[in-house]
Amino acid sequence: MRARPVESHTAYLSLGSNMGDAFGNCRRALERLAADSALRVTARSRVYRTAPVDYAAQQWFINQVVRVETGLAPAALLARLQSIERQLGRSRPAVRFGPRVIDLDILLYDALVLEGPALSLPHPRMHRRRFVLQPLCDIDPDLVHPVLGQTARALLAQLDAGTQEVCEHPCCG
Ligand code: AMP
Repeated sequence: MRARPVESHTAYLSLGSNMGDAFGNCRRALERLAADSALRVTARSRVYRTAPVDYAAQQWFINQVVRVETGLAPAALLARLQSIERQLGRSRPAVRFGPRVIDLDILLYDALVLEGPALSLPHPRMHRRRFVLQPLCDIDPDLVHPVLGQTARALLAQLDAGTQEVCEHPCCG
């Protein structure tokens, strides 16, 4: 009997850090994603330095977005990300949206729309965040948000000009 091929899904992940060696934390998270046999990293954005949003009294962040192919279901993928967060020393921040060693989020998982206690897809704040949309546009500007029906490029263009400063990190990305 032939083995059934593993179903493959496309997910977009956001990486962020603003504690310690923030650039190194994101690089190490990406290395762990790339080393995970259940994932294949198929694209990665440039790396950005970004001003904090929601809670301003903290260091700037390093942010990046990657695209992966995976056979993992959404909950299993989130568990993998949280395991990497713990390996890199993440503990729950004292302040919501406050400083963090590493933050790994699922932005999109195919065109799946899901609202659960542990996981919401698409990520509920992704369409309002320049630090997500700018790097996402490096990879797939024409990607359509499955709820809003608009492309990443259009969502980025709708953000208020001059807010949420984002600049490219002077590295290879
Ligand atoms: P954060 O502090 O941003 O890392 O939030 C993590 C919490 O958000 C976890 O308890 C997750 O269960 C929950 N969560 C809900 N939706 C998502 C998502 N799309 N990606 C990552 N975490 C999510």
